[in-house]
Parts: sequence; structure tokens; C-alpha cells
Amino acid sequence: MVIPMDELDFGPPDYKEMLSPTLEKNYGKWKYHELIKPGIFKHVSETGDEVHTVRTGWPKFAASETINKICDLADKYCEGTMRFSSKHSAEFIVPKEEDVEPLLEDLKELGLPVGGTGNAMHSILMCTGWVHCHTAATDGPGIALALYNELFPYFQRDDLPARLNIATAGCLNMCGAVHCSDIAVLGMHRVPPPVNDESVSKECEIPSLIAACPTYAIKPKMVPQEDGTKLRSIEITAEKCMYCGICYGLCPGLPLANAKNDGVAIWVGGKVSSSREGPAFSRLAIPFIPNNPPKWPEVVAVVKKIVELWEKGARPDERMGEWIDRIGWPAFFELTGIEFTDKHVDDYIFAVRDTNVGVKVRGSEMK
Ligand code: SF4
Repeated sequence: MVIPMDELDFGPPDYKEMLSPTLEKNYGKWKYHELIKPGIFKHVSETGDEVHTVRTGWPKFAASETINKICDLADKYCEGTMRFSSKHSAEFIVPKEEDVEPLLEDLKELGLPVGGTGNAMHSILMCTGWVHCHTAATDGPGIALALYNELFPYFQRDDLPARLNIATAGCLNMCGAVHCSDIAVLGMHRVPPPVNDESVSKECEIPSLIAACPTYAIKPKMVPQEDGTKLRSIEITAEKCMYCGICYGLCPGLPLANAKNDGVAIWVGGKVSSSREGPAFSRLAIPFIPNNPPKWPEVVAVVKKIVELWEKGARPDERMGEWIDRIGWPAFFELTGIEFTDKHVDDYIFAVRDTNVGVKVRGSEMK
């Protein structure tokens, strides 16, 4: 029996069922868009229709009461639909131009800031962090708030050299896209998880645990007991562990979080855009700053300094990484006052293999 594809299609409902009449009518027919002012775009369709998109910053968590209020705005101005972008923005797509100003007034009353478009600081991307993630080494939303508090004017300007994407992520699993942002604050664990033999032997599936470790750092171990028996457990080769926490996701006997050793690293120069130099991974600027909640003043100060230097020194359209590449990394370290250390040299034991097999260009060099 052949099962129709639509019956196999699980997951969230089809977004096309939820388009507003204007978006449905103009689906695939948009000709161009332009920036009207910070936070507001105009899209023009082949059909002659125009819509204005109002972009607001959006927090990581929201009360249902707040969500109900913005749904009321979507009913009032946007034919009953709105969208949440993947970059922590809430967008209102307004079919009637005369509704834009009243919507802005209502958003102001709600306390939702409009901005984050064009050559501005876009909404800060963040993961869940300490709120309910078990692998987080830092608090993505907490750092994002601390950064917003200091950098907020950049969100409502559009006169920076280029767009500025800032991201925070609680760990190197990078739910916050820190690998491709202009400035990234990345939670860092620095020691392998301690092994609780009792818990590992009673609560964990050891073969799956061993197979799950991406660096083969886990091997089985029999732990002698006082009564002469042996406990089935594991041991971790510290030099191979990259503190990813995948093992902890499978086994509560390997708690990775460590208040004394956890903190953040600062990365710079990543981008997704293919314009000019093409997409780029973020690169290490500061290997470690201890966690200092709730305001993370050291992190905020260094991010602000980097932004100010880039704003002052970059050419028009030059993203953070392009600016650094042009002036050179030695100049970047000198200007920012960031210390260049041995941690900036990639001596991870699998680095050569990983970059060789992971990057197409380098892979072709492996003969
Ligand atoms: Fe392996 Fe990651 Fe666990 Fe380290 S933290 S042992 S690398 S799974």
C-alpha cells in the first residue's frame, strides 16, 4: 500500500495554511523591498500590492499575557497573522500603510522596541541558557539582556558600517548560532564531566554512551568495590574531551556544569552572508572570561569596545570579520588591548583531521 506523502508529513502545521489574505495573494510574487526607517521595511509585489513590515525585538521568554496582546495587534493591523523570525524578532506585516503609525504607538505602549534592520545591531540571538538547558556553561538570555542594556542605541540606528549580528550561546552546541555572528559570546566548560560510578552503573546505557561521544573520549571501566564485586562504569580521557555535554544528555552520572570552571569565550568575525568575502566562521578573540552574573560587566565592556572600534574604523559595508581581515589580526589585538595567548593557536589534537575532512577546499588538498 502506498501512503500519500501528506499523511507521512509530520511536524508543525503547514505555514501556508496560516498566511494572511495579502500574503497568500502575493506568495512568490514579491519584486523587491526597501528600508523605510530603522525597524520598518516596505515590500512591493508584482501585483502592485505593498506591505510594511515592522520588526520588534523579542525576549527569549514571554508571558502568555504579552503574547495575547501582540496577537490582538496582529488581528487589528495584520489580517490576523504575524511572524517570529529565527533571530529573536517579532514582525508585523501590515497591508495598509496608514496602519503603520498606530501600530508603532501600540508597540511603544507595550514596551516592544522597533529596530534591528539594515545597518543596525540586529536582535541579539540567544539560546535558553541556564533557564532549562542541562549543558549550558553560561546564561545566554542573561548576557543578551546585559548587552542590550548597554548597546541598545545601536538597535535603533542604521548608520553603522554594516549590519551587526551578536549572538550568545550557553555551550559549544551553539543553539545561538555563535559560529557565524559578528560577535559571539559562547559558554565554555573547561573540564571533563566528573564520573559518578554509582549513577553511571545504575542509570546509564554504557555502550550508547561510549558510541555517543564524538571524540571517542569515553571507554568502559570496571570499578572494584569493597565487597569484591565490580561496578560497570566508564572513564573519560581528559585530553580528548571537548566538553560538549553530549554524554550528560544521555547519562545523569556525568554532570558537566561546574560553577568554578565555567565561563565564556568571545568570538568575532563570523557571518552567513555570501556577499564580498563569502560566509565565514567566527574566530577566537578571548578564550575565557569567568561568569559574572547578573550583569556580566567584563563581557559587556569588551563587546562594546570591539563594536566602537569597528564602527570607527570600518569602511562602508565592511562587516566585523572583513574589517579585521583588512587591518590584520595583530592590529585587532593591539587596538582592542586583547591579549594574544597560546589559546589562540589551534592545537586541538583532532584539529588537522577535522579541518581536512570538514572543509571541502582543504579536503581536496588531502592526497
Ligand atoms: Fe565526550 Fe563530549 Fe562527554 Fe567529553 S563531554 S566525554 S567529548 S561526550
